Formats: sequence, structure tokens, C-alpha cells
Amino acid sequence: MTATPIDGKAHAADIAVESALRASRLREAGTVPGLAVVIVGEDPASRVYVKNKALACEKAGVNSWVHGLPANTPQERLIGFVRQLNADPTVHGILVQLPLPKPLDARSVIEAIDPAKDVDGFHYSNVGALVVGEPKFCACTPWGVMKMLEREGIAVEGMHAVIVGRSTIVGKPMALMLLNANATVTVCHSKTSDLASITRQADLLVAATGRARMIGADMVKPGAVVIDVGINRLPDGKLCGDVDFAAVSMVASRITPVPGGVGPMTIAMLVANTVRGAERAAGFAAPMETRFA
Ligand code: NAP
Repeated sequence: MTATPIDGKAHAADIAVESALRASRLREAGTVPGLAVVIVGEDPASRVYVKNKALACEKAGVNSWVHGLPANTPQERLIGFVRQLNADPTVHGILVQLPLPKPLDARSVIEAIDPAKDVDGFHYSNVGALVVGEPKFCACTPWGVMKMLEREGIAVEGMHAVIVGRSTIVGKPMALMLLNANATVTVCHSKTSDLASITRQADLLVAATGRARMIGADMVKPGAVVIDVGINRLPDGKLCGDVDFAAVSMVASRITPVPGGVGPMTIAMLVANTVRGAERAAGFAAPMETRFA
């Protein structure tokens, strides 16, 4: 079997067009959606991510403001700044780029964000809403995976979904979204015994470990759908995922590449969440995009 790759870039481009259309409807009604990004310090990778996010907003007709603060910003000043953004009616989404430099405490900064503007979906209130199956804002990466599956016509209901990774930003919300969509979910992590025996049971395998190419062909059930969330930089500077793409492509039915798979979807969902925040603030009805979580 040779797997058909899933083109995340193409899906992300389509979602960006939908977001642009929704943003233009909002503008006609007098609201310009706006995303405020806060970046603390000079981490080069974070700077690149933030630039890409701002660019995606611009393309969709969404305002974006990047607020760069020095690495030695005190915790209380950062929280005070977030509160100012909460009070600003032109801001519909607030994103604090992670990781924060030490000794800043990311959790208390996230908890200072108004949940109605928490477009990353990391606030306890949004995590809790996802747990009870009534999500308001979903974490962009797993939400992007759900949208990609939906757009590919891959019905997860009844599937055995195995997620390798249990982080708060990817693995755990991914598990909840798949559970809410009626998959049967197993979550694995670094202490899981005999990982391969579990991953081989997966109809849908999601890898989110940050370990380059750790999922080999012997860990995948023939015909499985394989979603690779990982982004790893190899010594030669090239990017690769957590899945051995060439080998697993010979076993799986569908597979996401790295780059060009989940990554572009993450940014597309951030813009979509910002537009949704603006729609809610303007009293617009919920569009269909929230139905899958
Ligand atoms: P993380 O916080 O480091 O979590 C990694 C998870 O993988 C942990 O739960 C860890 O288990 C588990 N793990 C590590 N080694 C393992 C092993 N050998 N066997 C089984 N499980 C193992 O990472 P993350 O933030 O979730 O990110 C995961 C990957 O996704 C990274 O490559 C990251 O760059 C990428 N990512 C991509 C996007 C995107 O837009 N495409 C967005 C976010 C993240 P323990 O909990 O036991 O330590």
C-alpha cells in the first residue's frame, strides 16, 4: 500500500479564504477582527512563528498587533499588559507566544487572558469547556487536525485513535476532541510500555512527541490514517516529523507530510478563532466550524 498524502497547505489556504470572507462580512457590519500577539524576549524561533501569524492575519483582512516586550519584563507588568488588551474592544484575540523566558510563569499569564479572547484555547475555562464537550475556543493545532480530517472526509466516529504525546497544547486536547467526535481514544506517552503494540491497533495514529521519525512502519497498522504533528530540525537544517514518512507511507492509507501537513493548519485555525471571537463580540450566529469538537 502507498499512502495518499494529506495536503495541509491546501486545506489551510481554503480555511483562510473562508476566514477572509467572514472577516469581510464583519467589516461590513462595522467590526474589524483583531489579534494581539505578545512576545517576550528575543527567541528567534518564536519571532518567526509570530511573523507568520501576523502575515496570515493580514491576508485574511484581520488586524494584528505584535507587542514585543523585553525578556526581563516583570510578571506583574506582563499580566497588567494582558489586562489592557482584555479591555480593548478592537482586540478579539490575545495570544501570548510561548515559551516565556524564565522566570515568567506562563500559566498565570494565560489565566489573566479574558477567556472570550483566548484564541489559543489554553485558559482553564476553555479547557474545561472542551472537557464537557461544549468548546468555545479550541487549541489551534489539534483543532486544525480535526478540521483536516473533516475536510478529507475521514469519519473518526468508531475509529480507534491512538495519540502518542500528552502535552497540554497538543496530545490532551487532541484526545478530548477525538473523544467528543466519538472515536475510541488511547493516549500514550514516554512511560507507556510496549508502545508499538498499542500504535499497531490504531485506525488513526496521531504522533506528537517531538522525537524525529520515532514512528516507524512496524508501529503502524496497514491502512491506518497517520497524522504527524511533530516538527523537528535535523542536523542538516531540514525539518522532519515524528513519523518516518517514507517507510510509513508504504503501510498507511493516508499520511500528513512535514512540512506542509499540520503546521499550516495551526495558523489557519488561529485566524479562524480570531474571526470567531469577533463574530461573537458582534453578536453573529455560530458558523458550522464549531460542530466537530
Ligand atoms: P511536549 O510538550 O514535549 O510533549 C511531548 C510528549 O511526547 C510528552 O507527552 C512525552 O511524554 C511524549 N513522548 C516523548 N518521547 C516519547 C517516546 N519516546 N515515546 C512516547 N511518548 C513520548 O511536546 P508538544 O508541545 O506536544 O509538541 C510535540 C511535537 O509537536 C513537537 O515536535 C512540536 O514541535 C510539534 N508541534 C507542532 C505544532 C504544529 O503546528 N504542527 C504545534 C505544536 C507542537 P511524557 O509526557 O511522558 O514526557
